[in-house]
Amino acid sequence: MKILVTGGAGYIGSHMTRMLIARGYEAVVLDSMEYGHKESLPAEAPLVVGNVADETVVKKLFSDHHIDGVMHFAGYLQVEESVRFPIKYMKNNVIGPVTLLQCMREAGVKPIIFSSTAAVYGNPLTVPISEDHRKQPVSPYGLSKWAFEELLRVYDRSYGIKSIALRYFNAAGASLDGLHGESHTPETHLISLACQAALGLRAHFSIFGTDYETPDGSALRDYIHIEDLCDAHIKVLEALISGHPSDVYNVGTGTGTSVREVVAEITRAAGHAFPVTEAGRRAGDPPILVADPAKIMKEFGWKPAHSDIGSIVTSAMKWHTSHPKGYA
Ligand code: UDP
Repeated sequence: MKILVTGGAGYIGSHMTRMLIARGYEAVVLDSMEYGHKESLPAEAPLVVGNVADETVVKKLFSDHHIDGVMHFAGYLQVEESVRFPIKYMKNNVIGPVTLLQCMREAGVKPIIFSSTAAVYGNPLTVPISEDHRKQPVSPYGLSKWAFEELLRVYDRSYGIKSIALRYFNAAGASLDGLHGESHTPETHLISLACQAALGLRAHFSIFGTDYETPDGSALRDYIHIEDLCDAHIKVLEALISGHPSDVYNVGTGTGTSVREVVAEITRAAGHAFPVTEAGRRAGDPPILVADPAKIMKEFGWKPAHSDIGSIVTSAMKWHTSHPKGYA
């Protein structure tokens, strides 16, 4: 089976590509390389440099390779940037990938796994959040992912494209072999930033928002180890290929960890305190995002194995220690 991984040179996409190869699949990566890292890819996966919106490139890819399924990770992901540049997010995350769907149709490729997000829910009315919770994204990023989910429903009804959207909570951590980890430019994610501050690679770490209605005033998130997240993709891909209907699933652990708790865990892993400052809330951030993962657990027997915050932080620290400049 050959899987097209869009955004396959990014943090989650490259981990996914390596796992697909390790589990006996073939993989082809399509990545614009605006943010991707060649070093994160296994030699077995050919890289096509291009955008999912580029019809010539995508058409050629489908004619050069017999693709059995698509995993779509390509997309912009910075919540705060999306508030400043909403149209950039709509163009890149919603309109551009329509070309990918059109080329799938033409090539007769039906299954697609879509990298969605807990940000589709907005400020939750109830926690933990189940899939049928109201969708009212508070950031253009969340809206762009929700819009593409809706588009996938249209493509199923009208053209028989089968999709599973996975709504990730907070993907984090590095590969268990210590060889690959999270490296964004600019880095915006909590665990990477705090690890780098603990290692002296940044002057300090800032907690965004200490006045939330949460036990310690900082925001609660549900951190999921990249390994567990990618394992969920393989399970739903196999189901979709075997005829499972289109659907959506949360991928999280069901446990909320506060920003302050993450900082404490990183302090423990580093073995020393590091400079932490308190700042205002970041635009577009809901106070609490914690998954109800019962649906994916029950239907697919998926269970996180590496997602306690201690294991996530230990793997992330190991990677940042050995890669102080990321992939750069
Ligand atoms: N956060 C923070 N300081 C930072 C980066 C993030 O306090 O320098 C907070 C952020 O406001 C959110 C949580 O950490 O409450 C997780 O943010 P991240 O960007 O890692 O993931 P997101 O939840 O936005 O997908």
